[in-house]
Amino acid sequence: MRCALGPSPAVEVEDVWYAYGPRSALEGVTLQVPAGAFAAVIGPNGAGKSTLLRLLLGIERPQRGRLTIFGEPAGKVSHPIGYVPQGIRLPRGFPLSVGDLVLMGRYPTLGLGRRPSRKDRERVEEALEQVGMLPLIRRRFEDLSGGQQQRVLIARALVGDPCLLVLDEPTAGLDPAARAAFYAMVCDLQRARGLTLLCASHDLEDVAQHAQIVILLDRRVQAIGSPSEVLESRALAQVYRFPPAHHHHPEKEGPA
Ligand code: ADP
Repeated sequence: MRCALGPSPAVEVEDVWYAYGPRSALEGVTLQVPAGAFAAVIGPNGAGKSTLLRLLLGIERPQRGRLTIFGEPAGKVSHPIGYVPQGIRLPRGFPLSVGDLVLMGRYPTLGLGRRPSRKDRERVEEALEQVGMLPLIRRRFEDLSGGQQQRVLIARALVGDPCLLVLDEPTAGLDPAARAAFYAMVCDLQRARGLTLLCASHDLEDVAQHAQIVILLDRRVQAIGSPSEVLESRALAQVYRFPPAHHHHPEKEGPA
């Protein structure tokens, strides 16, 4: 399936405020992600990245402001949103196969207690093929490596045929090679399906290479733009409190 890219932005957030009791997590967040783009949300721990994703998924509602997805209010969208968590933990020894785990991604359409149809099984195989995991369809999920598990979780998100994929630090715990391979695969999917990607991430280098839009969040949107605009911004150094040696000071640069 390929996503039809209409005129509405994939994600539109307008003056969104959210607090957990007295603790404010998001303050006046406004941003847009065009359909078909790969947008990365970066920022230190506690910056509000997961909170923003949860609001978009409709798990929480903002205290103020508006979030829309392809023109529809978050929480009331008619199209599925694919969600890829940091990882999932199954009870030890839980005998869930890769194929069955991916099939769970069809449950909203399957309905509880309905037997999977031939089409459901075909879609599972197709999604596993797309992430390069079809040969492992009968393996136990818990026996796979972290990188392989993340690919399977992407496949689980894809079988619902989403046009927006929300990823919450999907490469936490992967080594650099697995991380690079993961981003390359996700970008192939973006191109092949016309998917919009919104990915919370700590991988500044991978993001610089693959994303079209970078959103630097620290309760407020501190910077938004192309990877080079944001990653070279003063806001980035301030938010991450880089030591001065790492900071770019154009005014101090002169002939050596
Ligand atoms: P990030 O994903 O960028 O690390 P979070 O959205 O998880 O940030 O958290 C933002 C802020 O909200 C943090 O200060 C965090 O401690 C707080 N927070 C997150 N979840 C809860 C919760 N369920 N209850 C209370 N405070 C929370």
